[in-house]
Amino acid sequence: MPHMPPAHTDCLFCKIVAGEIPSRKVYEDDQILVFHDIKPAAPVHLLLIPKKHIATLADTTPEDAPVLGHILVKAAELAKEHGCEAGFRTIVNVGKAGGQEVYHVHLHVLGGAPRLGPMLTPPA
Ligand code: AMP
Ligand code: ZN
Repeated sequence: MPHMPPAHTDCLFCKIVAGEIPSRKVYEDDQILVFHDIKPAAPVHLLLIPKKHIATLADTTPEDAPVLGHILVKAAELAKEHGCEAGFRTIVNVGKAGGQEVYHVHLHVLGGAPRLGPMLTPPA
């Protein structure tokens, strides 16, 4: 059985947007939602998502550029608000090879540590 991304009715983050699954919300407007990652990989670990269902970054089109730009600018603002003045890391995992687990595009914001670990472990 090939790996199939779930339909959006089945999408965990669409359910969080709809309020059907709780989240620790940080910020919301008509376009985007920001909440704490349930399994933080750093002292600060936020997820920024468009409210519109887009499965992966590879599925975006030029019409998604404004919301994606809004997410990046908001990421910087919220990182600072959460004490990441010394820096932070953003990650977008894309598809199976990229290690994406939830198929609703999201930007990870990680920070709050004096220095984050290496971005990737080199292959053995
Ligand atoms: P990715 O591997 O890039 O798809 O990341 C998915 C992220 O979603 C992981 O860091 C998970 O810890 C996080 N996650 C999964 N379920 C929830 C949830 N219910 N609330 C908040 N974050 C979640
Ligand atoms: Zn979704």
